[in-house]
Amino acid sequence: MKKITHNLPELIELEAILKEAGDLIRSEVIHTVHNGSCALPIHCLFMGNQKKDLPVLGFFSGIHGIERIGTQVILSFIRTLIASAKWDPSFQYILEHLNLIFIPIINPGGMWNNSRCNHNGVDLMRNAPVEAENKTHFLLGGHRISKSLPWYRGEWNEPMEEELNAVIKIIEREFMGSPFSVMLDCHSGFGLKDRIWFPYAKSHKPAVDIGFLLQLKELFELSYPNHNYYLFEPQSTQYLTHGDLWDYLYDYANENNNNTFLPLTLEMGSWSWVKKNPRQLMRFYGIFNPVLPHRHQRVLRRHLIFFNFLIRSVCGYHQWFPDSIQHQKYYYKAMDLWYR
Ligand SMILES: [Zn+2]
Repeated sequence: MKKITHNLPELIELEAILKEAGDLIRSEVIHTVHNGSCALPIHCLFMGNQKKDLPVLGFFSGIHGIERIGTQVILSFIRTLIASAKWDPSFQYILEHLNLIFIPIINPGGMWNNSRCNHNGVDLMRNAPVEAENKTHFLLGGHRISKSLPWYRGEWNEPMEEELNAVIKIIEREFMGSPFSVMLDCHSGFGLKDRIWFPYAKSHKPAVDIGFLLQLKELFELSYPNHNYYLFEPQSTQYLTHGDLWDYLYDYANENNNNTFLPLTLEMGSWSWVKKNPRQLMRFYGIFNPVLPHRHQRVLRRHLIFFNFLIRSVCGYHQWFPDSIQHQKYYYKAMDLWYR
């Protein structure tokens, strides 16, 4: 069969960044998706220091192929970091003390097809072996009826999709041995507000780390009092799902070691873009992405403060991470805020 070269703009931009970054970024192709006759690589990028005892921060996106803005936001941020690494001594210091990891296009087959699911028709955020503990919304929570319906989980007892296996290997290898790791996975398509979600998606039960998460939230709001446009909450506040990858890895990490691993999701409030420009609804793409150029540019810069905050707070986690007494205090405060 004749091989087709991809012309995916985000993948072209990612590969251009790799060329321009030189020694500042190391990269690995962690998997290649074969979508018909087109081979699409999943790139993982490393900046900073990969020494095992250092904290790790990951930025992931493109797990839902149609939510291209997440990938665009991350690629734009990587360009900012490459520029900073050349002249900013404080960031050069951070790079010696932090392991920074990016997977900007987890689902290149879905992006190529302009689809939420992967090239096999499976929703990668419903595909992990996790069952919701309470009733989920019909279809939205994940189902095994048919791949022609959205939110399809895949066949019962089938192994996880290849893209997820590649991501899991990176989380196991790079994150789980670290004493403190955080990752942020970027999505769009739900709600009017930008949300920072954390486990669980499967259950209304509190995660063991809600005290740390509340402390991270308070640290951000104290450091940036005029950037209060994020709503921090467990995903279960909005809806429950089967098969959430981050629930799966969060439980796996907690069962297998004592290190802290906090998976966060940035869910960009795309309904506000649609509200301001209802004509976007005419295209499937417009439900998930800002269309007008000025709004697109605004979204690209909107999250820089939070991303930079994550870099600094993860690198300097010793400075704010609570001891066990303090953590207990925060745990009960978090219970009051999110679960009662
Ligand atoms: Zn998504």
